[in-house]
Amino acid sequence: MPAFSVRIFFLFVLLLLRNWSTAQAKYDLVIKSGELIDPRSGTQAVRDVGIRDHRIAAIEKDIPAADAIKVISARGLLVTPGLVDIHTHDYAGTGRKSAYDGDNSIYPDGFTFRSCVTTVVDAGSSGWRNFPDFKDRVIDRSKTRVLAFINIVGSGMGGGEIEQNTGDMDPAAAAAMAKQFPDVIVGFKTAHFEGPEWIAVDHAVEAGKLSGLPVMVDFGKFRPERPYQELVTSRLRPGDISTHMYIDFIPMLDANGKVLPYLFEAKKRGVIFDVGHGGGSFVFNQAVPAVRQGFLPDSISTDLHVASMNAGMKDMLNVMSKFLNLGMSLPDVILHSTWNPAKEIKHEELGHLSVGDPADVSVLRLEEGAFGFVDSLGGRLEGRQKLACELTVRNGLVVWDLNGIARQDWQKRTVFTPHPEWDGTLPLTR
Ligand SMILES: [Zn+2]
Repeated sequence: MPAFSVRIFFLFVLLLLRNWSTAQAKYDLVIKSGELIDPRSGTQAVRDVGIRDHRIAAIEKDIPAADAIKVISARGLLVTPGLVDIHTHDYAGTGRKSAYDGDNSIYPDGFTFRSCVTTVVDAGSSGWRNFPDFKDRVIDRSKTRVLAFINIVGSGMGGGEIEQNTGDMDPAAAAAMAKQFPDVIVGFKTAHFEGPEWIAVDHAVEAGKLSGLPVMVDFGKFRPERPYQELVTSRLRPGDISTHMYIDFIPMLDANGKVLPYLFEAKKRGVIFDVGHGGGSFVFNQAVPAVRQGFLPDSISTDLHVASMNAGMKDMLNVMSKFLNLGMSLPDVILHSTWNPAKEIKHEELGHLSVGDPADVSVLRLEEGAFGFVDSLGGRLEGRQKLACELTVRNGLVVWDLNGIARQDWQKRTVFTPHPEWDGTLPLTR
């Protein structure tokens, strides 16, 4: 046989063998021996996670390696549900300058998987008018699961006068758009409003009432005509979300440094407090005493955009690490970054690891050392612990693998055999 035919023949045999082994294997992928932290079920123990057909197929003490096409050892690492970040800006590519529906936004896939995030929610970058363009331009093309709060302003976060246009705030039109895309739109956002009226908040809440969805509020300019206390103790409904909870404008502490009672009352009412770190919305002066006194976030989120990621915020794991170093327990930090945010956006199929659910899994490394964390005023906090993203599985596929733990030693690897069943990182043909 000529050399060329021999190669073709062996390739054919290899493909047959691969298809045979794929058909035989119980699991496409097994993540073995990691410390599983699943806050919804309360599990914190060493477990193996088996994945098949893009779903969690088993969580057991010992899954035999022979049952899987691919086994990844997570010994010494943490295995958690894929992280859910409910405050991000992802409406990139429109060409609009200095706007969150443009150049301030990021394409999610380039920034999510490397920080173990598998689901993001865009926080109002698009409004009820331009949401279809956002969906077409970013949501439908992303491997990251992208959901959205749509802005009560029809044109979204175009900056300047666009976001102040009360004539473009239309609860009925916003609710109608949410009804058209129930799988993707999770609620409504109001942001950056500077006027003295309550109209931006009230219209967003009205849209929420019309569609049974929550509202996320970035309170914009804090003005005496509409006090923040009133927002969280009476204007917002239980389940509505106040983001940027540690921004310096919020009346947080009394003259003796005690957290003001109205904040605990608002929490008791069921108003949700979300971190939304961003470029200018997280200060240690507020966060440190608040966390020490038990005024904790319901959800940890980034407010990821081009500016915040290059400043003190950086990424989801950096924000989570801040809370670890403020004394929050590791399971609580994971809870606030997975199951809690999933519940807030009413996507309870996310944020936990259960058999039958979509296989979005994060493999984290908890590093010990000397680290520094920076807030929005440039204040620095020293810390001893930091989370790093070792591996990310989205929809059953490995989409990020920092140290190649899913890979073979290059000296042993004889043939390039990407597996569409588990391998989302390498190209499938070459
Ligand atoms: Zn934001």
